[in-house]
Amino acid sequence: MPEIVLKDLTKSYGDTKAADGLSLTVKDGEYICILGPTGAGKTTCLRMICGLTKQDSGEITFDGKPMDKVPISERRTTMLSQVYSLFPPMTVYENVMFSPSIKEWPEEESKQLVKSMIKMVHMDQKVQQYPHELSGGQQQRTALARALASDSKVLLLDEPLRALDARLRLELRKELKSMAKEMGLTSIHVTHDQDEALEMADRIAIIRQGRIVQIGTPMEVFQNPATPFVANFVGRSNIFVGKVGTSDETGTEVILPDGTKVRSRHTDLSEGEDAVVAVKIGSTRIEHIPVPTEEVPNPLMPEGYFEAVIERILYEGATITVEMSSSAIELVTCKLPNRKFDDFSVGDRVMVSWAPDKATLFRIPECGIVEELRLD
Ligand code: ADP
Repeated sequence: MPEIVLKDLTKSYGDTKAADGLSLTVKDGEYICILGPTGAGKTTCLRMICGLTKQDSGEITFDGKPMDKVPISERRTTMLSQVYSLFPPMTVYENVMFSPSIKEWPEEESKQLVKSMIKMVHMDQKVQQYPHELSGGQQQRTALARALASDSKVLLLDEPLRALDARLRLELRKELKSMAKEMGLTSIHVTHDQDEALEMADRIAIIRQGRIVQIGTPMEVFQNPATPFVANFVGRSNIFVGKVGTSDETGTEVILPDGTKVRSRHTDLSEGEDAVVAVKIGSTRIEHIPVPTEEVPNPLMPEGYFEAVIERILYEGATITVEMSSSAIELVTCKLPNRKFDDFSVGDRVMVSWAPDKATLFRIPECGIVEELRLD
């Protein structure tokens, strides 16, 4: 299956740059997720790959062959979007048979292919049903089978799971990827859902304002975000500004505007420089402040800790999110397992901390921190 290379693609709609120097290499047989907020240019990227949208400049190649003059029908791509677009008067079987029949493939081979695709998406009990008789999930599976029952080598998925209910979405994440892998397709899946990308992708490309800002394995992107935007978008983070202090073998000290000292992993930034600090909310810990005793009437806040007051606790099923205010960081949030729910209440004074290697420092972005973190 082809290796796809996008080189310096640009595409503008009036003043809007839907692609602004977009470059990306998708390897043969790879399952890549393009992750970014709404309006980042994800759909435009897919449409340029399959030929529905023509880029203003830049080059797209499949296995080194420029696609510029290759019409949509010859690119051997198939696009599956959140809008299922099944043909209403056709049964499941007829929908999946659509491509083989218009391409006039040999009858017996086509039947076998269609049957196996329908089986793969677990629709073999529904072959004679019409789209209006199917649930959203079943329609989506049928659309997938129809997309796969073609001679396509490239699978383009535009938020394919967005309209499904949560349970089915989780189930189809696994199936979709394993089907694409089984068929050896080169797959590009766009989504704004971080969990979906982290779970499904061989590599994740983070897109923002028409550009790829980082590409790497889910673990690389999650653990070593390249920018504050990535740190915030892929796994929510507490993000705040401080001044770089001294370093030792355990990490670097960061001094917050109120004088509080916290710790981060090592940095290339120099002592005295302003920095953006990002700490994942899942890596932020809280403990109750020790109660004064006769022996220790004034327990000291240990180094690297600071005090905060709980403002809100949200129960989310497996986890809880605790929001706090403090003089060090205006709003600090942490995510804890739900068994901690009874340990904390609104109004509690707590000590906040994190392991130094969980805090990443970034140079202050030129556009300013508010603009950097903006999600559109
Ligand atoms: P995403 O898929 O990440 O939500 P899109 O690729 O759909 O982003 O859009 C990127 C930007 O380009 C958006 O600001 C969108 O409004 C604009 N855009 C996309 N397609 C068109 C179009 N056909 N006409 C005008 N503006 C468009």
